[in-house]
Amino acid sequence: MICERFDRPDMDDCIFCQIVAGDIPSRTVYEDATTMAFLDANPLAPGHTLVIPKDHHEHVQDIPAGVAGDVFATVHRLVAPVQDAAGAEASTVAFNNGEVAGQEVPHAHCHIIPRFTEDGSAPIHSIFGERPDLGDDELDDIADDIADGVSD
Ligand code: AMP
Ligand code: ZN
Repeated sequence: MICERFDRPDMDDCIFCQIVAGDIPSRTVYEDATTMAFLDANPLAPGHTLVIPKDHHEHVQDIPAGVAGDVFATVHRLVAPVQDAAGAEASTVAFNNGEVAGQEVPHAHCHIIPRFTEDGSAPIHSIFGERPDLGDDELDDIADDIADGVSD
């Protein structure tokens, strides 16, 4: 089933873990020891590609730092070939990180979506509604909280 939402996701019924295991087919375009990339089964544009860590981690922040670096290295490696194969001038590169943010498959994955002039789509900014009106003090507090929360 495509894009099914899991109530209690675990590795046994994770569709991307099944792709990694070879139990369900994929149009794989790249694979190394820790990452894999394959075409999205319901593409938003020709060449729409997903990059995943092979091990099951639900959210970006759950991926161990070293593997997260590997995932980004694969994204970096794939963007140009994906764009070139699609004849695209640009791409949207993004994670839906968590169910509230629209993540349907609970195995972290980065979308590489080729973009074209006048493709009818819009920037990531367009998915948000009214922007918050934040004062300088609030911005300072948020920046401090984020900086304090960063671990080495
Ligand atoms: P997201 O909403 O960020 O979780 O995106 C999940 C993506 O996975 C969607 O774009 C789906 O089209 C894609 N998808 C779901 N099942 C498969 C599958 N078996 N093979 C490839 N892509 C899939
Ligand atoms: Zn998984």
